[in-house]
Amino acid sequence: MTPSELGSRLAALEQAGRLRRRPLLDGPQQPACQLDGAPTLAFASNDYLGLAAHPRLAAAIEAGLARYGSGAGASHLVAGHSRAHAEAEAAFADYAGHEAALLFGSGYSANLAVITSLAGRGDAVFGDRLNHASLNDAARLSRATFRRFRHNDPDHLEYLLKNTPAASRLIAVDAIYSMDGDEAPLEALLALAERHDAWLYVDDAHGFGIRGGGRGSLAGAGLESPRLIHLATLGKAAGLYGACVGGSRLLVDWLVNTARTYIYTTAQPPALAHAVPESLALIADADDRRQQLAGHIHHLQQRLHSLGMQLIPSRSPIQALIIGANTQALACAERLRAQGIRVPAIRPPTVPEGTARLRISLSAAHRPEDIERLAEALHQSLL
Ligand SMILES: *Cc1c(COP(=O)(O)O)cnc(C)c1O
Repeated sequence: MTPSELGSRLAALEQAGRLRRRPLLDGPQQPACQLDGAPTLAFASNDYLGLAAHPRLAAAIEAGLARYGSGAGASHLVAGHSRAHAEAEAAFADYAGHEAALLFGSGYSANLAVITSLAGRGDAVFGDRLNHASLNDAARLSRATFRRFRHNDPDHLEYLLKNTPAASRLIAVDAIYSMDGDEAPLEALLALAERHDAWLYVDDAHGFGIRGGGRGSLAGAGLESPRLIHLATLGKAAGLYGACVGGSRLLVDWLVNTARTYIYTTAQPPALAHAVPESLALIADADDRRQQLAGHIHHLQQRLHSLGMQLIPSRSPIQALIIGANTQALACAERLRAQGIRVPAIRPPTVPEGTARLRISLSAAHRPEDIERLAEALHQSLL
């Protein structure tokens, strides 16, 4: 693309109902918020436990600021590996049940790190068709052969595994799919990984804090194996920012030595890392919040069902209502916005062509009456 093409390319996006813009949020991330200057009830964040504005996390960051200052100043290997980072890693490994853990600035960079460090030219990476974009980018960047299998179809994966000449194989999946909300068949996938001598990399961005009593989808499924690698992000249910990769000590040592998005980047601010143990303590103690969340999920499903609306089947806080055309999904979101409700319209290329949808994301911070209001407004906006 040339500089003079920018304007027409953007206009083409707008024409196709694909133009993206960012609503401006004032104040903290919470259901009742101020969005684009208007009081709004939002169903859009991944703050599933309502921790993003928790006073104990703000206090922990303040204490971290007082102790460590604001910036890490260097990468981990040069001079930036703070005691706060080391303590965050130890706390996560202990809580999620891993031998060791490595802290990253974000889930995106952790995905790039793990996949490009374990797979290269001549190797094979297998990914579910609905995997998060960062896993796809990582697989392509690795230069390994990249094979995508049909969504949640272990038979198709096995077929691909059997037909790859590569000796080194890595299977990557979302534990909970970010745009559909359904879950990967982790037990079946691990059995395949065992049978075909592969890694199983589980991106638990949407399961950590929710599943397994908070410890995540692997703990929830009772799975343990040296082939398993666990990614937990800290920007969603954990209410912070960053990510932890959990696995063996050897794996962590290998990542520290080879992962380019770990080596060539400044460490996360230590004040933020200082709040990680506090976040984990809140998650561990959040059975009541997880119960509220489960109640909201059930409530929404019942209400929409009784109104004749069909959600993609999902037990998770991500509830997707397929609309179809981009322009229709945008029009629905706009009608909701006019009623003071924010539900994002998710369009291609984030989701497959023709499956534009409203992605409703629920939080323990919602109240039962918020769910009622949403159901009514959805009913109106779809009429
Ligand atoms: C959000 C998300 C990521 C990226 O994590 P960040 O910490 O936001 O960079 C990775 N994978 C999945 C499935 C996600 O939903």
